Amino acid sequence: MLVFSLHLFIILAVERIRNQFYAGPLKDADESMNVYQRNEDMLRQEKSAASAQTGPQSAKTESEEYRLVAREYFAKYRGNLETSRFTIRGVEVGADKPLIIAGPCAVHSYEQTIAIAKSVQEAGADMLRGGAYKPRTSPYSFQGLGLKGLEILAEAREITELPIVTEIMDQLKVEEVGYYADVLQIGARNMQNYALLRDVGQYAAEHEKGVLLKTGPLPKLKEVLCAAEYIALEGAKKIIICERGINNPADSMRNTPRPNFLLELRKATYLPVIGDPSHSTGKRDLVPRIAAEFLDAAANGLLIDVIRDDEKETIGGEKVCDYEQGMKASDFKRFMTEIKTRKVPQKWP
Ligand code: PEP
Ligand code: MN
Repeated sequence: MLVFSLHLFIILAVERIRNQFYAGPLKDADESMNVYQRNEDMLRQEKSAASAQTGPQSAKTESEEYRLVAREYFAKYRGNLETSRFTIRGVEVGADKPLIIAGPCAVHSYEQTIAIAKSVQEAGADMLRGGAYKPRTSPYSFQGLGLKGLEILAEAREITELPIVTEIMDQLKVEEVGYYADVLQIGARNMQNYALLRDVGQYAAEHEKGVLLKTGPLPKLKEVLCAAEYIALEGAKKIIICERGINNPADSMRNTPRPNFLLELRKATYLPVIGDPSHSTGKRDLVPRIAAEFLDAAANGLLIDVIRDDEKETIGGEKVCDYEQGMKASDFKRFMTEIKTRKVPQKWP
């Protein structure tokens, strides 16, 4: 009995110390200033320990390598599937309703972007996606409109009031892209670009922006979570992870989607995790089925490419980026009504 009580006492004491250090805005950016301050202190300690790269703070277990984003270190999230909740321009992330981010793969023109922005907004999307700087496999493919593309996205936001999610590929462009973006997207190819992760994390922390981290071409769970940790360590609190499938030469799909991996991520971190059925499948006809599989696997939302109903294969002489996977606007609208009653699971399956 005495041994049992002593054991219980130690568990409660450890829990108390842990909560003192780990409770904070990473789990909810909108919580009170006291908690915020406490978490800032914790971040500073973690940061200086990380830069010193020595000492007793170095990780002893695998999950300690991503201690700021690991579910198990936060009493509130242990044993459930709840996530951090925060808002981006008033849009709730981590809520019961799946977050739907939709829009063109790339911004090709003003007309194209505004038309798609309006239709996804009418269909009920929560945020507008669109690349101004595009990571393309071939250097001869359309690389994006750059600054002009960002300005078009800002106009689309003005018209639809949808927050903008757009990719940042280059450390030198963090200020430029960050100025226009509400959520800075880190693409699959840059998931382990640690210098970029740090710079984006710092910018997002200073300007209270969101970060959408896409999973790499063939990542392990730890690699994704450590990438998120780099961003969190800079103080960014509005982080979303996006599973976008793996590079699998044996599969006819563009990138094999992994709903199970999404669920593993959901269990391992309290950050919201969404799925990308467009870049994973590469084919518009497969998008609704894979989207449903992601939602069944407890996804906190979806990232979906949309094209106009009458989209041609080229715009302004350039091939439309990822044309084959873009869902037609009217199909997207139907899809949105189909998933209307979906709720994000908040408990372990
Ligand atoms: C994108 O979402 O525009 C994109 C380029 O995706 P990924 O980084 O997953 O290839
Ligand atoms: Mn694309």
